[in-house]
Amino acid sequence: MVLASHHYLIALGSNQRHPRHGPPPQVLRAALAAMAGEGLVIEAASPIIASAPVGPSRRRYANAAARIATPLDPIALLALLQSLETRFGRIRRGQRWGARTLDLDVILWSGGTWNSERLTIPHPRFRTRTFVLTPAAKVAPDWRDPPSTCTIRHLHARLTRPAPVRRAGPHRLHAGP
Ligand code: ATP
Ligand code: MG
Ligand code: MG
Repeated sequence: MVLASHHYLIALGSNQRHPRHGPPPQVLRAALAAMAGEGLVIEAASPIIASAPVGPSRRRYANAAARIATPLDPIALLALLQSLETRFGRIRRGQRWGARTLDLDVILWSGGTWNSERLTIPHPRFRTRTFVLTPAAKVAPDWRDPPSTCTIRHLHARLTRPAPVRRAGPHRLHAGP
């Protein structure tokens, strides 16, 4: 039995096909299988969504989120996720947001916050990313973002809510026919 003392929310992304696994959605399916093969317990995996590119790369992304359980602490988990990215052929060219076969980011951790040079939890940019929050809301709607105490459901609703309809000013309210 695995002593799974930690729970994490992981964001998965791909915008480059893999020679063996195929196009980005297939890369993410293979990545989830590889995570399970490394002993991470996949408690829930979201549907895979397609999203617009971020940064210099113009290829569309496949994105997903998974809730996992593992005895690994955050740094050990990051090392495992990065070794999986490398195994899937990701080459780090020092350019952020470039094309990649696989990106595995730690979004939330059951232990709360983590701040070190190599790792920041919650992920510093997840609150403004629809491509993270949409799949995350499917697998972890009630998880709370430690500093803001908002749930994922709330953060997602706030980000995707349509812009409010502009109301007429008070002078217009009294301007009857
Ligand atoms: P972004 O972080 O904006 O999604 P990215 O995922 O493309 O960009 P990477 O090249 O995958 O960025 O990672 C850059 C560095 O970010 C990694 O070397 C890692 O040490 C660090 N890092 C810090 N916090 C996290 C986190 N929560 N999850 C994953 N990597 C993190
Ligand atoms: Mg990322
Ligand atoms: Mg990353």
